[in-house]
Amino acid sequence: MPKYSTYQEVKSQLIDGTCTTVDVVQNYLDRIEASKELNIYVEVWAEEALAIAKSQDERRQNGEELGRLAGLVVSIKDVICYQDHKVTAGSKILDGFTSLFSATAVQRLLAEDAIIIGRTNCDEFAMGSTNETSYYGPTRNAADPERIPGGSSGAAAVAVQADTCLVALGSDTGGSVRQPAALCGVIGLKPTYGRISRHGLLAYGSSFDQIGVLSNSVADAALLLEIMAGADDFDSTASTEAVPAYSTLKNDGKPSKVAYIRPALEHPGLDEEVRANAQSFLDSLKAAGHEVEAVEFDLLDYIISAYYVLTTAEASSNLSRYDGIRYGHRSDESENLLETYQKSRTEGFGTEVKRRIMLGTFVLSAGYYDAYYARAQKVRRLLVEQLNGIFVDYDFICLPATPTPAWPLGESLDDPVAMYLSDIYTVAANMAGIPAISLPSGTHGSTGLPLGMQLMAPAFGEADLLSFATTIQ
Ligand code: GLN
Repeated sequence: MPKYSTYQEVKSQLIDGTCTTVDVVQNYLDRIEASKELNIYVEVWAEEALAIAKSQDERRQNGEELGRLAGLVVSIKDVICYQDHKVTAGSKILDGFTSLFSATAVQRLLAEDAIIIGRTNCDEFAMGSTNETSYYGPTRNAADPERIPGGSSGAAAVAVQADTCLVALGSDTGGSVRQPAALCGVIGLKPTYGRISRHGLLAYGSSFDQIGVLSNSVADAALLLEIMAGADDFDSTASTEAVPAYSTLKNDGKPSKVAYIRPALEHPGLDEEVRANAQSFLDSLKAAGHEVEAVEFDLLDYIISAYYVLTTAEASSNLSRYDGIRYGHRSDESENLLETYQKSRTEGFGTEVKRRIMLGTFVLSAGYYDAYYARAQKVRRLLVEQLNGIFVDYDFICLPATPTPAWPLGESLDDPVAMYLSDIYTVAANMAGIPAISLPSGTHGSTGLPLGMQLMAPAFGEADLLSFATTIQ
């Protein structure tokens, strides 16, 4: 079977009878089997997916009208709830836990007949940039299995890269959809904060978290966004802003004004060949008639620190619910309640998660709150103001998605700070809550590894962002 690059291709083949839904699902299951060594899936729901496919084929034969995503095969990151299916956030602490309800995003996809094929591996509680902090071991990059796929939605990116599903749902708190998308050569969309309900997304940093889409085409990202977005009674932070018909919007062909952040391109941490790739991407935008200009920005050196202060603070609170009593793993070794808490958490959480809970607790502590947490909030406010200032004059901001291509497995495990610094270009969109998309931009000259460029737009500017991305994809 050919590799489908858009749902439109699948849909036309299903309608004209070139293939059945069972064929489509079976093909992805075969691909999952063939790519097992990449460690993409924590669990595959093969029989269930085939049964749903069969019933869709029967409904189609009977002339019934099917949903807008009939036959669309999607994987979900192991932080997104699907009723009566396991979800563990890549952590031992949720071992054996089964979702009691479906995330709103999942519910909306199912209501349109999407078929969920399995849950993908990820960094534990989405904390990481390499997929190596998972309890289930690292996922490998299909472009070079000795390298990381990025993270935390690393396996979601590889799931699309290795053609094991058409689209993947991930989550993006500081770049987790866009960074792995770039490192694996696929598209990654992080919507505006609140565009998609977070109900049923296991929380990491609640004021940052957002469900995102990894795909081969901008069209599919737009279609999924359109179906998942919108107000939700279960999440008061989900926006009530009307949802445009993202999937049918056409670009008016007018040139756009694109700003690139000069200090980002001049940053000493930026790999030379990534810089050259970024430069040629900007040149191609100019050649296509868009106005491309450098802008100044003086917060680049502060946003990583601020991001890690704020997200660890939120994480330390969010993860307090995993106490060995209510969910998942409970220690067998404890003799009283306090020991149950202590030992269950000690045994259940991995090193990176413990580091972040401790850091988050520290920055919130009475003696240090003002020095860290309150200051980081001020940086966040300044960042929003600077970005809004840029959007007064420009439609989009463009910058690389990552400072380097995918690095070798194991390299960042001993140096978490180096790993944190690799998020330098992605965290701004989460700090400001604005939408951003990572688009494949070719390969890194000397290693041949995939690279991606990122475009950011003002809050709720997805319609313009997606139609611009379509023209340059
Ligand atoms: N790498 C970042 C972190 O570890 C981003 C993770 C994410 O977006 N979930 O926090």
